[in-house]
Amino acid sequence: MAMKKEKLRLYLPSEYKKTIYDIDYNLLKKEGYNTIFFDLDNTIADYQTFFPTSLMINLIENVKNLGFNIYILTNNTKKRIKNFKDSFNVTCFESLHKPFTRKIRKKIIEYNIDKSKIVWIGDQVVTDIKCANVLSIKSILVDPIKPSTEKWYTKINRIFERRYMKKIKQEFNEEYNTLGVDTRYAVNR
Ligand SMILES: [Mg+2]
Repeated sequence: MAMKKEKLRLYLPSEYKKTIYDIDYNLLKKEGYNTIFFDLDNTIADYQTFFPTSLMINLIENVKNLGFNIYILTNNTKKRIKNFKDSFNVTCFESLHKPFTRKIRKKIIEYNIDKSKIVWIGDQVVTDIKCANVLSIKSILVDPIKPSTEKWYTKINRIFERRYMKKIKQEFNEEYNTLGVDTRYAVNR
């Protein structure tokens, strides 16, 4: 299956970090960003974690204190996100149907968010990173916290993710190498 180079580029994250705790939010602020879009599942918490830990709460507080507006964006349900929403005290957009961008486009307008100042952080190339790129938003890819807890449809997404990243490695070799993402997609992993 051939994919046009420009379509393939939609799966290329702006940056890669192992976890949300490895991101330099201070630097992002200095670069002029003021809004963080966090994915929830396997980005902030694995699928078996139903309550936020103090580590998560501290991170959200610290990022808020730097002056960021934080939003949590999930394809999951209102029920799933409730405990996190309550503890973090942030706005959450649920049932988003990522990788489709119709709903998130509406939210960006409704909340009057400047797209050029958003950083979108997520663990999935085919949902989070694609959405960000379609909307011309800066993205940071992180490793999924516990891939073994993923549901069947996410496991299918991972198959496509590996396929796309393999092609990205060929077509956008310089960008791919700069990301430092190679061990994530190593054959024996
Ligand atoms: Mg996720």
